[in-house]
Amino acid sequence: LDSITQLKVVNSFAELPPAFYTRLATQPLTQPRLLHVNPAVADLLGLSAQALAEPAFLDVCAGSQPLAGGKTLSAVYSGHQFGVWAGQLGDGRAHLLGEIVSPAGHWELQIKGSGHTPYSRMGDGRAVLRSSVREYLASEAMAGLGIPTTRALALVVSDDPVYRETVETAAIVTRVSPTFVRFGSFEHWHASPENLRALLDYVVDHFYPECRDGKAGESNTPADVALRFLKTVTVKTAEMVAAWQTVGFCHGVMNTDNMSILGLTMDYGPFGFMDAFQVNHVCNHTDTQGRYAWNAQPAVANWNLYRLANSLVALDIEPEALKAQLAHFEPAFLNAYRRRLADKFGLLQWQEGDETLVDEWWRLLHTNRADFTLSFRRLSQAPQDAAAFLALFDDRAAALAWLDLYTRRLTDDGLADAERRARMDRVNPLYVLRNHLAEEAIRAAKQGDAGKIDVLLGLLHDPYTEREGHEAYAALPPDWACRLEVSCSS
Ligand code: AMP
Ligand code: MG
Ligand code: MG
Repeated sequence: LDSITQLKVVNSFAELPPAFYTRLATQPLTQPRLLHVNPAVADLLGLSAQALAEPAFLDVCAGSQPLAGGKTLSAVYSGHQFGVWAGQLGDGRAHLLGEIVSPAGHWELQIKGSGHTPYSRMGDGRAVLRSSVREYLASEAMAGLGIPTTRALALVVSDDPVYRETVETAAIVTRVSPTFVRFGSFEHWHASPENLRALLDYVVDHFYPECRDGKAGESNTPADVALRFLKTVTVKTAEMVAAWQTVGFCHGVMNTDNMSILGLTMDYGPFGFMDAFQVNHVCNHTDTQGRYAWNAQPAVANWNLYRLANSLVALDIEPEALKAQLAHFEPAFLNAYRRRLADKFGLLQWQEGDETLVDEWWRLLHTNRADFTLSFRRLSQAPQDAAAFLALFDDRAAALAWLDLYTRRLTDDGLADAERRARMDRVNPLYVLRNHLAEEAIRAAKQGDAGKIDVLLGLLHDPYTEREGHEAYAALPPDWACRLEVSCSS
């Protein structure tokens, strides 16, 4: 399509009862400019280069004009923040513009940073350029890694001041997802069975229709549908977190209002891809207790699922039956985690004893504070030529001892080395969105230069293939990187 105005737009979320949202207008930025557009997501929506160059495209992504055919709204939800019930939250600075029907599916278009809503509480409804660049790049980095995530279409900037610890400037990210419904959307209705039922029906009909069909002979009451729904969300969430663990991704704010009901990584704030590995690494400077440390993420996801399940009790579902669905978390997590690790180590399959190999691996990386990404990436050639791999470790004797365990394990598979290396290099990324790379892109963006965003996006969309002339993007972080702090301020 050559214009955003030609998109086929429906508004299924707006068909939920009015209590689920507020219809409202966005608050435009002053002299907004399109800093970057993501061609991959434009493709998903069916928008041509011409459509992206039209003023109407900027107007929609800047919140200056509604999406033709769309019903602009902000949604309500609640949630547990840092383990504590926070009560009502909601889209405090985000507006859903409408749902686009493209050959590649249905995609909700949501802009973030587009002004006050009834759910803004003390907030100003804005997002700063810094966190917007981070969200824009991170969601696309996750997509490039094949990890379920919301997507980002465009990044709009303005000189409007936004007051955080210092004065920054405003930006808007256009986010794209089949839905932005969260665990917290369900928790919001924990004492309102009618609305809870409406939300469950909406999510099941649109995203989990298979939950309506029981196996032959199985009972198929509304409670059964709800239980199948909970099982599906449990498994998807477990698989998502397993994927995070194996790329060294820390979400940073795994509050239940930031947990997608589709098992997509969402609400990128103070996230981090680890540089030096530390099992209890905390990427969010605000998280002083380390609640969302890397090694805590699986248990937190499980805890969050309990909160989701708890809200379903209002539908007269037996707590024991809900618990039985939640029990799928651990096996789903372990299956996905082991499969991914086996692939990363170039093993044909997970076998008994591999637990020890992996435990020793994490211990080696932790005690050496070895680089997460490069340790895996350089491992592929280490059995033949260990120099580059060993350079990542202070205790080379320990690294050699582990390598010895590993090479002995490889003989069980009998895979040819070239084949094993090729397989490993297809799953161990060379390029990840390290904090300092995001920071360099932010600094350039503040000067109006989107060049680094563009280069990063290109690399991160295919993080496995080495590109000539981009050595700096695959290098260890510079010394100043460890002084970077990210917090909830966004
Ligand atoms: P988060 O944990 O960052 O996803 O945000 C928690 C809640 O605070 C959500 O309901 C957000 O919409 C809201 N929020 C965060 N920042 C702002 C802001 N600057 N203005 C209004 N609401 C905000
Ligand atoms: Mg309303
Ligand atoms: Mg959030």
